[in-house]
Amino acid sequence: MKVLVINCGSSSLKYQVLDMTNETLLAKGLVERIGMDGSVLKHEKTNVDDKFIQETPMKNHKDAITNVMNALTDSIYGVVKNMQEIGAVGHRVVHAGEKYAQSVVIDDKVIAALTECIELAPLHNPPNLLGIAACQELMPGVPEVAVFDTAFHQTMPPESYIYAIPYEYYTKYGIRRYGFHGTSHKYVAERAADMLGVNIADLKLITCHLGNGASVSAIKRGKCIDTSMGFTPLAGLAMGTRSGSIDPAIISFIADKDGLSADEVLDILNKKSGVLGISGISSDFRDIAAAIEDGNLRAELALRVFAHRVRYYIGAYIAEMNGVDAIIFTAGVGENDVNMRDVICSELGNLGIKLDLVKNKVRGKETIISRDDSKVAILLIPTNEELVIARDTYELTK
Ligand code: AMP
Repeated sequence: MKVLVINCGSSSLKYQVLDMTNETLLAKGLVERIGMDGSVLKHEKTNVDDKFIQETPMKNHKDAITNVMNALTDSIYGVVKNMQEIGAVGHRVVHAGEKYAQSVVIDDKVIAALTECIELAPLHNPPNLLGIAACQELMPGVPEVAVFDTAFHQTMPPESYIYAIPYEYYTKYGIRRYGFHGTSHKYVAERAADMLGVNIADLKLITCHLGNGASVSAIKRGKCIDTSMGFTPLAGLAMGTRSGSIDPAIISFIADKDGLSADEVLDILNKKSGVLGISGISSDFRDIAAAIEDGNLRAELALRVFAHRVRYYIGAYIAEMNGVDAIIFTAGVGENDVNMRDVICSELGNLGIKLDLVKNKVRGKETIISRDDSKVAILLIPTNEELVIARDTYELTK
């Protein structure tokens, strides 16, 4: 069966087609600037060197998916003769609240439940729902599956997810820690167990998803027991442009000082903070590394703050799980930033965590990077959220 995986953002849409008989990637692509001037689709067929690029107005997600379907059935760059060859569509959906702890086949009840979750993820769930609606219209009869960023974290015990605020805010408004990047944490945890040749039920793992958005999870016996993101993806680690957790009193303090509303301060915490805010240079860790080379002290500070927060969670989760067997690095920074992994892991030797500085000189490859005498294995595992979405979609619809 061929599965189309779709990840809709407010103005972008990423997709992949996988053949699930052997889990191979047939094609992938990206539509950008949906609903704006300069809409563009970039499509790549596996093993074909040049990209198919189409610049054409796309006023909404339906236009975008129509163009994706044209690319997928193109005589040169296509991977199917017609769309009937697509057996199912898997959608990444950001927020399922407490409604789903697993992926689910989409029907009217699911759509109603996800619509109810819009208030929890006002930026993310609406485009996810637009993508689902567009596929239903353009590919009638093809089953669709929703795979949730929050689902994997639903196993957290209440002491991990309840905030120490009046309990009614949880019962009335659903205010609790949900966690995100769940598909990625789940994928790398399962890969780590395979790589170590140990049943996941016998492992304590700390998974570090370090990308532009970043989170750390504690995974005990294959179940998430804690994660650094919270009610929204703003909490936890310092990130590319997000502050991560800060003293909440700072929000009203800045609002008073600068005459801003709470929403305006939150916008600063989401878009102008993190590594960008500290360095004043960039949210991209490659720019930060280059600035450090040039002796920029604020870039150096940004790197240290980022690493400090990751170490902070590693320490906390070792305490929560009473030990750890493996630490896993994934996503853009975790997979590629050799120096960042080095800074994070330095001076953790007393906890049995010893990075091999030679093995660590690697990017984007599944490998073990701890020293042979390290009690805790350190693993680099490129994430593959699309494969998890395709697998769940296949399993639920085959
Ligand atoms: P992601 O959100 O997982 O796509 O990660 C994107 C981030 O990965 C970018 O903001 C970059 O800062 C970072 N990144 C990608 N490649 C490298 C690299 N070679 N060295 C350091 N950081 C990198």
